[in-house]
Amino acid sequence: VEKPLQVFLEESVQRHGEEKAIHFMGKEMTYNEVYSQSQKMANYLQSLGLNKGDKVAIMLPNSPQSVIGYYGTLMAGGVVVQTNPLYTERELEFQLIDSEAKFIICLDILVPRVTNVRGRTHLEHTIVTGIKDYLPFPKNLIYPFIQKREYNMVVKVEQTEDTHVWKHLMEMAATDYLEPEIKPKEDLALLQYTGGTTGNPKGVMLTHYNLVSNVQMCEAWLYKTKDSRQSTLAVLPFFHVYGMTTVMNFSVMQGSKMILMPKFNPNDVLKTISKEKPTLFPGAPTIYIGLLNHPDLHKYDLSSIEACISGSAPLPHEVQEQFEKVTGGRLVEGYGLTESSPVTHANFVWNKRVNGSIGVPWPDTDAKIFRADTDLEEADIGEVGELAVKGPQIMKGYWKNPEETEKVLKDGWLFTGDLGYMDEDGYFYIVDRKKDMIIAGGYNIYPREVEEVLYEHEAIQEAVVAGIPDPYRGETVKAYVVLKEGSNVTEDELNAFARENLAAYKVPRIYEFRSELPKTAVGKILRRRLVDEEKEKLS
Ligand code: ATP
Repeated sequence: VEKPLQVFLEESVQRHGEEKAIHFMGKEMTYNEVYSQSQKMANYLQSLGLNKGDKVAIMLPNSPQSVIGYYGTLMAGGVVVQTNPLYTERELEFQLIDSEAKFIICLDILVPRVTNVRGRTHLEHTIVTGIKDYLPFPKNLIYPFIQKREYNMVVKVEQTEDTHVWKHLMEMAATDYLEPEIKPKEDLALLQYTGGTTGNPKGVMLTHYNLVSNVQMCEAWLYKTKDSRQSTLAVLPFFHVYGMTTVMNFSVMQGSKMILMPKFNPNDVLKTISKEKPTLFPGAPTIYIGLLNHPDLHKYDLSSIEACISGSAPLPHEVQEQFEKVTGGRLVEGYGLTESSPVTHANFVWNKRVNGSIGVPWPDTDAKIFRADTDLEEADIGEVGELAVKGPQIMKGYWKNPEETEKVLKDGWLFTGDLGYMDEDGYFYIVDRKKDMIIAGGYNIYPREVEEVLYEHEAIQEAVVAGIPDPYRGETVKAYVVLKEGSNVTEDELNAFARENLAAYKVPRIYEFRSELPKTAVGKILRRRLVDEEKEKLS
């Protein structure tokens, strides 16, 4: 349907105005409250001179402010630029300059970081929200988003001409604003920067139509009507497109409650599930793994969970089985990327699903496997090639980057950079990212296949496999592993296990034991960073 994204909020206010929209650390807000505060945000932004299409950066962890800032921006006619609160000054500066953001909404503890780069960007106004604006926000929850020295530097932010205090804004602003004229298929709702696990982040231009379509597909796929009262655990951050679509925008569209968690902490998540009883829990493999490995897992009642979708990285079969056992709900794998708002495929929750598969394309979405390096030549069933997708959720292009856009958008198809195949029932499988394939001694090795075997070992909590430079073989297979607490296994034992289950050329030549692995905001393991570390060691 062609409509501006914010219409979801307006419609939910009509139907569910007095029902809870947000649960945040013991405090709840209704749809009416979220709406009237979003109206005030829109009014205030317009009074500061926001014109249609102006960019508003939002640098917040999941919180009422992150929802209100987002919808307020859209209602005013602005374009949201999601900004990770963990960004360093360098990353923040790059994104602010590149996006040309005129406004930023951020947490007060992040103000020093913003102030240090502000002069080199297009920023005209900073809207600051305090730790205590909505909640008892304990120090240790905020802490992961900032450096210790920044915490000590937090000063009370005063209202000035270009710095605006959230509380003042909510007291002063009216609820009326000029409704922008949005052309859903043309106008951007969001400039979403890619995760950057490969190379420099690129701004992905997503229109209102793109985002609305993906949320509607989500509804059709999940089979949940607007009258089925579900609530969703919001562990995935809203500043990443995956949590933004499947948790925030989907909940708003349904008029259902989201239970916000500003950061992933297994202990807090388990406690929250047993207390607040969410029914939906979108996540990523490392999130489910973190919960399964919690020593007190069995003390908590997780039986409210009905459905989970796991995306962003391959879901090990072991994890799926165990998580279903402890919750009694269904955990299915899906797939997507920032460039497609993000979801394009998923297994069915209440119907046939295939282990190891990303499922079938979502409603209205076409998917094909093209032979590598050919001009749109389709692969046969079962043949590995590059996955390409087409549909209303596919981005308009990369912001100010027609060259990169041309490389991935061809004839309406988005080339995903992922290698995969389709079976005769139309289920799709990802074998790996084109860029992650290891070529060792002339053999092609997919890290995913090796990881899948390692995950079957009882001592392993997390594993990632990468091709690291090797003078003789070009690349060699290295495994980084995190062991389960209290487990003990030697390199030789792991090696013997891998040899039993993998062809010799795929067996890791090197193992490194670590206490943790570097991850992105949604918990994807940063394989690239590990490879870069190896390259640095060699140079
Ligand atoms: P960048 O694009 O900058 O490297 P990123 O990888 O974090 O960063 P995203 O758009 O967040 O960018 O991730 C999309 C990618 O995640 C997909 O192209 C695919 O490689 C991977 N992915 C998502 N879901 C799955 C899945 N179920 N199985 C395997 N890989 C997946």
